[in-house]
Amino acid sequence: MSAFMRLASVFACLATSGVALAQPIALGADVDSLLALARQDNPAFAAEGFETDAARERVGAAGALPDPRFTLELMDVTNTMSGGSPSVLPGRVGETRYRIVQPLPGWGKRALETEGLHDALLGVLEHPRWDDVADRCLSCGNCTLVCPTCFCTTVEDRTDLLGEWTERSRRWESCFSLDHSHLGEGSVRDTVHHRYRQWLTHKLATWEDQFGESGCVGCGRCITWCPVGIDLTEEVSALRLTPVDQ
Ligand code: SF4
Ligand code: SF4
Repeated sequence: MSAFMRLASVFACLATSGVALAQPIALGADVDSLLALARQDNPAFAAEGFETDAARERVGAAGALPDPRFTLELMDVTNTMSGGSPSVLPGRVGETRYRIVQPLPGWGKRALETEGLHDALLGVLEHPRWDDVADRCLSCGNCTLVCPTCFCTTVEDRTDLLGEWTERSRRWESCFSLDHSHLGEGSVRDTVHHRYRQWLTHKLATWEDQFGESGCVGCGRCITWCPVGIDLTEEVSALRLTPVDQ
């Protein structure tokens, strides 16, 4: 065989093996391919992955591990897969997935000393800690958006240029926005220092004057969702620990 023929046969073999390698593996031919497909396309698996990523991110922002959770999951509760009969009763619908998740808050993770807090906070309105927190706070308003007790709204009027259409709507507002305290000549709380102080003292002190109880239910959402990790329990401790002369 000439050198040319030998070279041609080598190329032919490589081409043939290439075609064979490119053949897709039939679905279900092996467990690995099924697992790969599930990892790639299963929405529940993808959702769990995103949940895990979000939980990891929250650990950093909150400065603490999330509370442990007890999860109970029931699938195919009608026993359809094992020969049960179909039913529309809520407790017997086939292929239904019931999931019960119960957080189990850990002890000693983080606390807010509320004894005498009203007077303690209103007694440190000129504390240098407000400047310290203002240096870190982005005034993004996340803490107010996730807080279950924040209720501030604003009214917005819109109309077209011909004056034939107009709409008045109410939308969420935050004490961290500059316009929130806009009066006559401008914003009354025009620095982050003043806006954070307004938020914390209203939530934990003057809310009591207004409604007879604290404005904080202790959920910790403002801590979890603060992009720079500001923690109201830490700020209150700092304000309490280093009192200043007013
Ligand atoms: S911990 Fe208090 S201030 Fe923070 S989001 Fe929950 S209720 Fe609001
Ligand atoms: S979420 Fe954090 S950074 Fe944003 S306004 Fe609240 S305290 Fe400031």
